[in-house]
Amino acid sequence: MSERVALVTGSTSGIGLAIAHKFAQMNYHVALNSFEPADAWTTLVAELDGLGSGEIAYFQADLSDGAASRALAEQAIARFGRIDVLVNNAGIQKVAPIEEFPEDDWQRIVSVSLDSAFHAIRTSLPGMTERGWGRIINIASAHGLRASPFKSAYVATKHAVVGLTKTVALEAAEKGVTVNAICPGYVWTPLVAKQVADQARVHGLSEEDVIRQVILAPQPTKQFVQPGEIAEMAAYLCSDWARSITGSTISIDGGWTAK
Ligand code: NAD
Repeated sequence: MSERVALVTGSTSGIGLAIAHKFAQMNYHVALNSFEPADAWTTLVAELDGLGSGEIAYFQADLSDGAASRALAEQAIARFGRIDVLVNNAGIQKVAPIEEFPEDDWQRIVSVSLDSAFHAIRTSLPGMTERGWGRIINIASAHGLRASPFKSAYVATKHAVVGLTKTVALEAAEKGVTVNAICPGYVWTPLVAKQVADQARVHGLSEEDVIRQVILAPQPTKQFVQPGEIAEMAAYLCSDWARSITGSTISIDGGWTAK
């Protein structure tokens, strides 16, 4: 167990960081990633390094070129010898009506969340199937199962991530590798904080009203999910008790998709 290696894309903030933190506590070797240079994250690497017996390493890769995740996975394999657990977590958001949706934002959202997942899976899966054990966890969203206005690229991408998850789960089903999508509702992270101003503009509301009337409106609990709740699910999916959970969409959304 203590020798497991995890690559978590987009793991310097929010949900990815919570998952990396959990894996470090579980004594995994963890490959961290974001688009910024390594210098920006030396303190974070040292902090996570102190949590368990695994090694923590940071790899810069800008996944707005989705194919960069191929080199990222190759670098993690070169450093640690393999990838046992791949978490495709990196994601970005843009809120705008479809007529005004900037083409480069569309492309960036698809690249960061979908293309990068494709390339990272394609690079990591052969080793997992050879060894007969692996876990692929895609951080999709409630927006992989439901739509909201003004989020065309994000909703389309997250639905596609769910489709990718199911397909790879079927391909890997007899190889000891599970592939699942966690679908969080609203989790209070920088990704959500940054969209409050945009949402206020498109909806013509104050930022306070956006949080109450737009962001938490579809979430029946009226509470943000905490990043640690997603991390605990990721840890469970890596346990042997979860070996029969594959091709699933696991909602952690305060009841959003019950409606
Ligand atoms: P966040 O903004 O806190 O963190 C995003 C991470 O991705 C950061 O580490 C950032 O550096 C990295 N990243 C961004 N662009 C990148 C790029 N071009 N290349 C490499 N790394 C990049 O976001 P979060 O809320 O923790 O979101 C994480 C995932 O969870 C995303 O896929 C998001 O869509 C999904 N999600 C979030 C929520 C939510 O409410 N926060 C809900 C459902 C799903």
